[in-house]
Amino acid sequence: MIELRNVSKWYGAFQVLTDCSTSIKKGEVVVICGPSGSGKSTLIKAINALEPFQSGEIIVDGISLGDPKTNLPKLRARVGMVFQHFELFPHLSVTENLTIAQIKVLGRSVDEAQAQGLRYLDRVGLIAQKDKFPGQLSGGQQQRVAIARALCMDPIVMLFDEPTSALDPEMVGEVLDVMVGLANDGMTMCCVTHEMGFARKVSNRVIFMDHGKIIEDCSKDDFFGDPDARSPRAKDFLSKIL
Ligand code: ATP
Ligand code: MG
Repeated sequence: MIELRNVSKWYGAFQVLTDCSTSIKKGEVVVICGPSGSGKSTLIKAINALEPFQSGEIIVDGISLGDPKTNLPKLRARVGMVFQHFELFPHLSVTENLTIAQIKVLGRSVDEAQAQGLRYLDRVGLIAQKDKFPGQLSGGQQQRVAIARALCMDPIVMLFDEPTSALDPEMVGEVLDVMVGLANDGMTMCCVTHEMGFARKVSNRVIFMDHGKIIEDCSKDDFFGDPDARSPRAKDFLSKIL
């Protein structure tokens, strides 16, 4: 589904990603963790072609991002992305937030887009909020709308970049519950998160990054169950967050 081959990226002289290789299969849930500044956001944005990279290759659903013939906006429309800050359109209602890209990018009719929007709004438990504006919702509710909005596009994979880290603690659970539901339904997911409870519960694999490198890429059971086999950096990190 997603393949990274020796991806490297520099900001000027600073190398932010070094030789990153991994793959994510259909239906897999992969958690990416690691210290601040280790390149997690850069890596996940590169998968969605939001960050260019200078060497290596990223292939999404058989299409190489670096191929000049690739229609990046079209590919991006099929990759759902949820960020730390919800990034809903503040001047649009919840329903309009859910329908605008379906109508403008996928060419769906208003009726079709609304039906799909309400279906996913119901799924994240927010049907009663359909006519509100983002500013009238809690952070947790806004993030659930952001997830519903991404799902409305029928994504082949969902990418999350610390979707709960800007939330008040009491709202983290409601967002994680939605993510757990998606994982259990078989959605292919790649999540940057430090929510190790989530990782333990639903992930298949854990990637640990440090200084722009993928240091660990192993099954959840190995990552959590066999700390002695982990690199010192991963061990140190785990000891701080667990
Ligand atoms: P965090 O956990 O804090 O979100 P991260 O692992 O997501 O960190 P990135 O945001 O990917 O890390 O950043 C990786 C490194 O690249 C950092 O050292 C950061 O300062 C640097 N960086 C990010 N964006 C830019 C930019 N536009 N120009 C220069 N350096 C950048
Ligand atoms: Mg980040």
